[in-house]
Amino acid sequence: MKSAQNILRATFGYDNFRPPQDQIIDTVINGGDALVLMPTGGGKSLCYQIPALARPGCAVVISPLIALMQDQVSALRQLGVSAAFLNSTLPPDQAMQVEEDLVQGKLDLLYIAPERLNQQRCLALLERAPIALFAIDEAHCVSQWGHDFRADYLQLSLLHERFPQIPRIALTATADERTRAEIIQRLNLEEARQFIAGFDRPNIRYRISLKHNARQQLLRFLKEEHPEDAGIVYCLSRKKVEDTAFWLQEQGFKALPYHAGLDASIRADYQSRFLREDKVIMVATIAFGMGIDKPDVRFVAHLDMPKTVEAYYQETGRAGRDGEPANAWMVYGLQDVIKLRQMLDNSEGSEEHKRAEQHRLNAMLGLCEITSCRRQSLLAYFGEGLSEPCGNCDTCLEPVDTWDGTEAARKALSAVYRTGQRFGVNHLIDVLRGSEGERIYQYDHHQLPTYGVGKDLDNNQWRSVFRQLVARGYLSVDLERFGALKLEEQCRPLLKGEEQIDLRRDVKQKSAKRTTRTS
Ligand code: ADP
Ligand code: ZN
Repeated sequence: MKSAQNILRATFGYDNFRPPQDQIIDTVINGGDALVLMPTGGGKSLCYQIPALARPGCAVVISPLIALMQDQVSALRQLGVSAAFLNSTLPPDQAMQVEEDLVQGKLDLLYIAPERLNQQRCLALLERAPIALFAIDEAHCVSQWGHDFRADYLQLSLLHERFPQIPRIALTATADERTRAEIIQRLNLEEARQFIAGFDRPNIRYRISLKHNARQQLLRFLKEEHPEDAGIVYCLSRKKVEDTAFWLQEQGFKALPYHAGLDASIRADYQSRFLREDKVIMVATIAFGMGIDKPDVRFVAHLDMPKTVEAYYQETGRAGRDGEPANAWMVYGLQDVIKLRQMLDNSEGSEEHKRAEQHRLNAMLGLCEITSCRRQSLLAYFGEGLSEPCGNCDTCLEPVDTWDGTEAARKALSAVYRTGQRFGVNHLIDVLRGSEGERIYQYDHHQLPTYGVGKDLDNNQWRSVFRQLVARGYLSVDLERFGALKLEEQCRPLLKGEEQIDLRRDVKQKSAKRTTRTS
């Protein structure tokens, strides 16, 4: 058997493995199962391609991306590897040839679409052939929680039943803990070694701050740090994309809008300008970015909070592909959460699916609100550890101040309760601060015991308290009542005086400037 290191050099022309590629490859070569979680571009393919060449027999790769199979096979053939694919695009005579080559042991790698693999005929064929391993690419497709669910993937548990001796390696770039657990369970990978790595993008500086006046904050960020750079500004809605792009143009930036509502030819044109010209800022919805490979994107800015940590990671990951310093900058506020919940609520899908999405949204909110290193938290989300704080995120560069918010939180919760859980943040703050507004008298809220007990904090400070209570799940936003806040079970100990709560002291705009010393 040729060594993995030899194959890496002789066949693929690389000198070194990117850890933990070597460990993964070792595991599979020695007949063990592996679950690999690595971001796109991390180098997953080698993890099964090298064992395919090192072990006797043919490696069977299950991939849902039929369009990519041909490319992968051509690339491998150019390296002198005997590779083929079987999917519906292949004419019958060619498919027969591939099957014959497989049985005769002439193939090193065979790519198969999952629906084909599930046919009895195909399984019988595999039983007559020498098989080196099974690689299950895009393994998250087995998860019913996810967006990419494919019923055909469920049948892949067959592989373990019919071929118990043959090692399996499952690979994916996107899987939170829950999806990972589902992959393991559905594919019978309980014995598999898990490898999670490569998510860290050390050159990206993560910064998340509170939205005051998003446009002005963005303008300052661009002027101070990226006056001449290419970057992407993400917004939630098409209208906001257009408004923001237009406004940036007025400010003298070369900004272009991009969203799915624009004509395909315009989109193609703007995209190629972004790739070719200097200093273009793409203002875009999430429709932009897939497959865009521009190495010198110096910043990714979010004017709205993404729905999930995965989305945040993927979108910010478009910055700094060249390894040079880059900024991932974001402003967010309670309004973002309300809007996203609204979208979620109005979306299609089962209750269970919505709950899963809610869970993901909360994790994103958690990332915004944490007071410790953002990178540690981000990597932990993917299951990858980082032993020390990174030193290259806002919370590392400018440690967050916290304060004992127990009493303020109790007052806030009590205001919610006493007003019948029917009012939004603004009104609640009016109650707490003892406002003389019309609506206060209209509802007799000046009679409440909570009326005016919160004069010690100003409007912004109260907003911050409410936002953090929502972020931590003490309060929820009732969308049927236009953003009214409701108490959640979790707030009980706090209300009863059995719990203390430390809150984040929001950085004022003035001191925010100190974090912008790079570039
Ligand atoms: P993924 O499937 O995880 O998205 P790929 O397997 O396509 O990623 O690898 C991404 C790129 O990295 C490819 O160009 C690949 O050749 C390259 N690559 C992978 N491993 C190594 C390595 N050990 N040394 C150098 N380049 C590598
Ligand atoms: Zn950090």
